[in-house]
Amino acid sequence: MTRLVIVGGGHAAAQLAASLAEKQFPGSIVLVSDEPEIPYHRPPLSKTLIKDPEAPLPELRGASFYEQAGITLKLGTRAVAIDRAGKRLRLSSSAGQEDLAYDHLVLATGACVRELPQAPVGTPGVHYLRTYAQARALRDALPGAQRVVVLGGGFIGLELAATARHLGKEVTVFEAMPRLLTRSVSPEISSFLLETHRGAGVDIRLGSTVDGLEMAQDRAVGVVSGGVVVPADIIIAGIGATPNVDLAREAGLTCDNGIVVDATLATGDPAISAIGDCTSFPHPAWPQPLRLESVQNANDQARTLAARLCGDPQPYTAVPWFWSDQGEARLQITGLWRPGYESVVRPAARGKGFSVLHFEGDALRAIESVNSPVDQMTARKLMQAGLSPAKGTAADPAVPLKA
Ligand code: FAD
Repeated sequence: MTRLVIVGGGHAAAQLAASLAEKQFPGSIVLVSDEPEIPYHRPPLSKTLIKDPEAPLPELRGASFYEQAGITLKLGTRAVAIDRAGKRLRLSSSAGQEDLAYDHLVLATGACVRELPQAPVGTPGVHYLRTYAQARALRDALPGAQRVVVLGGGFIGLELAATARHLGKEVTVFEAMPRLLTRSVSPEISSFLLETHRGAGVDIRLGSTVDGLEMAQDRAVGVVSGGVVVPADIIIAGIGATPNVDLAREAGLTCDNGIVVDATLATGDPAISAIGDCTSFPHPAWPQPLRLESVQNANDQARTLAARLCGDPQPYTAVPWFWSDQGEARLQITGLWRPGYESVVRPAARGKGFSVLHFEGDALRAIESVNSPVDQMTARKLMQAGLSPAKGTAADPAVPLKA
């Protein structure tokens, strides 16, 4: 009997297990995660969970799902080494070390927070957000804080800034770049978000680097920027994530901003595949290898790999999509924006929402929508079918988006 071992307890790992179960994978499945919880939704950590002290663990699937599907969960267990020649994985947990044999190994190790050199994870007064445990620590600390400083104007930092402001906190965001989300969204969306957050009373400081932290004994009590100390009861570091590649790299697999995989999500070792945030993969819509941090990518890569492991290999070509809740604004993005596209702004047919459509010639390459779900979903379906809406009428909300 084939034994498939999945390393990771996030969206990619859980979706792979579920897709394999659905396809009646003819082998045993073991899922190894160093987190103590069963796989859970990560997006609510910076959205609903942080606001609601009663919010339970947002499980992806209940424990009974894994039981009924015959999937063995090894939680609180870290994979520390791969013996590729012997096809064995070394595991470490509070119970000690053990070796687990595999026929096929899937690395779904995700990403971890990028740490401030002067304030590693665990520094009192500084919060990072990637895990349920970190979300609970932040949720517990927020009621006692009035001055919240967020380092980094990325998706997670801005979501948390909006939430903290909603809870009545004084919020300051330091962003080193001259606009918000420089690499991820178009200037139109950056401007909208800047206006929205500033309108809600968040003090956003663009082009502002932080020189260091003000410490009182071991606790961070402020940030130093341009020689001035900005006092903080809580500092949230949202300065990005780095892919978890150590396990793969130490096993001799090629890593370059992620575990390098081919179009079928195979590494250079035919017995090892990789999926989700930890991968660097080729994509037909992008000239360089991509590494994405999104639920869609984790889930769709898991489905593509499940198909291959069940005898139906296909290249991974899914159109990327993403969402983020920024206060009252729901931002939805399909495709990948890059500078140089021709942009068309389209108001939503109802309400104050809008979309920005980005064309290369007549081909729609990306659509960013703010509170405009109908246009977003219509354009997404077109893009998934390899089609584009007519550019000439795209700005007119009275004309439906169609190819
Ligand atoms: P992860 O979810 O990071 O899971 C990796 C798992 O592997 C973790 O459980 C980790 O502990 C485990 N692991 C790593 N190394 C080992 C090892 N050696 N041994 C055992 N276990 C190991 N995406 C969106 O599309 N929309 C959103 O609104 C959104 N909001 C987000 C909000 C927050 C606060 C965060 C943190 C992320 C958000 N994301 C969002 C991104 C999304 O959650 C990730 O893209 C997704 O979780 C990736 O899934 P993954 O399984 O690849 O990695």
